[in-house]
Formats: sequence, C-alpha cells, structure tokens
Amino acid sequence: MNPTIAIESPCQACGACCSYSSNWPRFTTEEDAALDLIPEKFVNERLSGMRCEGDRCSALSGKVGETTSCLIYAMRPEVCRTCMPGDVECAMARKRHGLPVLAVVPANAGNHTA
Ligand code: SF4
Ligand code: SF4
Repeated sequence: MNPTIAIESPCQACGACCSYSSNWPRFTTEEDAALDLIPEKFVNERLSGMRCEGDRCSALSGKVGETTSCLIYAMRPEVCRTCMPGDVECAMARKRHGLPVLAVVPANAGNHTA
C-alpha cells in the first residue's frame, strides 16, 4: 500500500462501507433527475437503492482493504456522500472487514471511495 495515498484518502484503500450491507446504499433524498443518472445495471429491482451482490455494492470496483473505487462516484447516492472516514458507520464497516478503525477524519480525506 502507498502510505501517502492511505493518509490522504483512506477510502481508496478501503471500500468497506460499500461492501457492508445490501441495505446500506439505499436511495433517500435524491431527486429523480439525480437517480436517472445512475446506470440501470447498478440499480436494484425495487429501484430503492444500489444493486448489491451479497453485501457488496455492484458499483464498487477493486478489492476491499487494498484498492477500491466507485464506478459512479460523481452520481453516487446521498448516503454514500455522508459516510465519512472515521465516523461510526465507517468504524463498523472496517471492523467487519478486519481493517483498523480510523481514529481521526483527515481534513482532506474526501468521502469514501473518492
Ligand atoms: S468511509 Fe470508512 S469504511 Fe468507507 S471507504 Fe472510507 S475509510 Fe472505508
Ligand atoms: S460509494 Fe459507490 S460503490 Fe460505494 S456504496 Fe455508494 S454507489 Fe456503491
């Protein structure tokens, strides 16, 4: 792992919250126009959230805990935008994947899979 990348954006070497629960990347406050931008293949049958394979969001690319990215980053759901490195949800997801919990939120971290 490149430690510089890990410090600046821990999400790029993580992806745990994108692979935590099929109920997690759900749609909430998005406008229809915003949801329309998400390619259909990544949306679940009920149109209620992202399509998942098991607990993993179908838009997550890469290997959790190593290198990951969101294939629809610019149009990702609100819930994905609000989860921040070091918050409670982040800690739960990282524990599930055997990754160390982040103690602090780096100021320039962006949010997950940035
Ligand atoms: S918010 Fe936390 S769990 Fe999600 S990708 Fe970033 S570091 Fe990982
Ligand atoms: S950030 Fe992207 S890969 Fe992660 S849960 Fe949201 S849509 Fe899926």
